Amino acid sequence: MRKIIIDIDNTLWDFAPALYARLHKIHPGFPDPSQWHSWSFWKGLISPERLYRAIRDVHMEQDRFQPYNEARGFLGRLKENGFYIVIASHREKETLPATRRWLEKNALPFDEIHLSYDKSVLFDWCWAIIDDSPVTLDKARSAGIIRAGLKNPWNEREDHPLFASLHEIYDYLQTKCASGK
Ligand SMILES: [Mg+2]
Repeated sequence: MRKIIIDIDNTLWDFAPALYARLHKIHPGFPDPSQWHSWSFWKGLISPERLYRAIRDVHMEQDRFQPYNEARGFLGRLKENGFYIVIASHREKETLPATRRWLEKNALPFDEIHLSYDKSVLFDWCWAIIDDSPVTLDKARSAGIIRAGLKNPWNEREDHPLFASLHEIYDYLQTKCASGK
């Protein structure tokens, strides 16, 4: 059975605008997500502590937000094709109940949830990872597992397989399966 790691934020739902709303409150004039041209877009604008608190606050309210329209179908097709789905998110352990509620409320199919600060601990036994983080995609490339993500301002300058939709990512995974990877 092929195991696949699926990120949540900016992969299964539109996280950036929710984070931006909070950052803008803390720091009026904070640039909007279209200007987040690197993974460290926040540096020099806000402290790491305030950033992490804002991220955590969004995650604690995960229930308020909708997944991308195509998220359920994407995960469902992976399940139908025999994939084992590990939902992996860079978030604090205390956000687990809110995360699980959100997945279940929106009928998003999965096999397990992994919350941590380094998804590469999962790479040894996984076939692929879907993530928008250039840091995580770099690690996946080094580990030699299949990687893909949704294209965003903070990753589009990086050399990774990036796509406009989860449908396109699914098709890409199919070509990898077909080629025996
Ligand atoms: Mg993400």
